[in-house]
Amino acid sequence: MRQVGLFCFHNDLRLVDNPALNQATAEVDRLICIYCLPPYASGHKSPNALSSQRLQFLQENLIDLDNSLERYSQKLEVYYEPPLQTISRLITQHDIAKIYSSASADYYVNTVWKILKQRYAMISFEQTESSFLFDTIQLPFDVQDLPDTFSKFRRKVEPLEIKTPTAAPDSIPPPPPKVAASLWRQQFPAFTPNTKPLFRGGEAQASKHLHRYFSRGLASTYKETRNGLDGMDYSTKFSPWLAAGSLSPRTIMQALNQYERDVEQNDSTYWIYFELLWREYFQWYGQKYGARLFTHTGSKNKKTNTSFYPERYQKWCQGNTPYPIVNACMKQLNSTGYMSNRGRQLVASCFVHELNLDWRYGASYLEQQLIDYDVASNWGNWQYLAGVGADPRGHRRFDLAKQTDIYDPNNEFINSWAGDDCSKVLDSIDAADWPISDSNMAAKS
Ligand SMILES: Cc1cc2nc3c(=O)[nH]c(=O)nc-3n(C[C@H](O)[C@H](O)[C@H](O)COP(=O)(O)OP(=O)(O)OC[C@H]3O[C@@H](n4cnc5c(N)ncnc54)[C@H](O)[C@@H]3O)c2cc1C
Repeated sequence: MRQVGLFCFHNDLRLVDNPALNQATAEVDRLICIYCLPPYASGHKSPNALSSQRLQFLQENLIDLDNSLERYSQKLEVYYEPPLQTISRLITQHDIAKIYSSASADYYVNTVWKILKQRYAMISFEQTESSFLFDTIQLPFDVQDLPDTFSKFRRKVEPLEIKTPTAAPDSIPPPPPKVAASLWRQQFPAFTPNTKPLFRGGEAQASKHLHRYFSRGLASTYKETRNGLDGMDYSTKFSPWLAAGSLSPRTIMQALNQYERDVEQNDSTYWIYFELLWREYFQWYGQKYGARLFTHTGSKNKKTNTSFYPERYQKWCQGNTPYPIVNACMKQLNSTGYMSNRGRQLVASCFVHELNLDWRYGASYLEQQLIDYDVASNWGNWQYLAGVGADPRGHRRFDLAKQTDIYDPNNEFINSWAGDDCSKVLDSIDAADWPISDSNMAAKS
């Protein structure tokens, strides 16, 4: 009898360097390839809905993967209901013997996986590490003993070998004949398409971007340019494809090493690796802390501000605060789905320290908007900036005026995103919900 396997794609939407997929193709005779949309993706009327930019980029990645699978006489089935229901239904319909996925730092995905394992003891569940630089087995510590700061982590992992990326599979077993073709492409959640997006999804586009980046010599000056605010060239822009998994960190390292051999090895090329180690750190951090990634006390278990002011929150989201640099960054995010690393630090610091808002609302907003949204990097960085995470200093408040002088001395970035076109006051209502206006103030006095 033919053995049927189920491959659950998540943020590994690629064929090259996907060891989990290679394992599945080697072990079963029939394979069903699926992807379940993240929660809230389809509720476009809900306040939690994903942004058009995020949906468009995701759709492009999924279509590209489906097209690539078609060349193997395979196909991708995309489901809009939660993974627990989808996978349970497929198990009963198709007599599935083995379920495969790439290991993930995503608490939600890992929880579903655990429930399924308990529920279906007769099925073999296989998780392979595909999305990190290192495998768990290489780490010189247990994941639960992950160092509490990035520097300690970096010193321990830097000497480790990074594996060579694996090639795309030679062949992929076909789906069982009973799997009916779905209309997922037509039923994809509605979004407002952008004809000139900054990034196009898919493995082919990721590979094109990777080669273009290194062929233009940008890696040689990365360390000097990486704090830019606007444009495509000041940083690598690998993050959207890394987050979707249409590009693997090991493939980037292979290209970086090649560049160092053929063109130049300097502080800047090292710094690209250094930043990828930050990503790596947060992946293990997410695995270690699980649900604590989302609690206001963070990994430090430290009490922090949990206040929420709807007006301040809305102004921050819309880029209408009294801080022009923050406004420019937020408008850039709302329009493109991307924001520089410097910008993310500034908007998060403003959210926590100037607006005194509970950091989790800021993290959630970025989750909806960022096309490079990655659960561990986003929530881990927010914890860091809110002083409840991996920052050894424990408190990091950016002086927004000083940061503007350093990174946007001629207000070019602020002007190009109309950051100055804003409300000069933060609050129009007082703590008792009274409108704050000159006439009210006069009446009260
Ligand atoms: C509040 C906040 C939220 C963030 N949310 C995300 C997120 O959801 N997804 C995401 O990928 N990154 C996130 N980052 C990290 C960082 O801002 C982005 O990875 C970076 O801006 C992406 O652009 P790039 O690829 O050009 O980065 P580059 O500067 O070229 O860096 C190369 C790669 O290194 C990694 N990297 C760099 N900085 C960091 C960092 N601080 N933490 C983790 N990885 C890093 C990324 O994979 C990046 O693609 C966040 C940072 C902050 C401060």
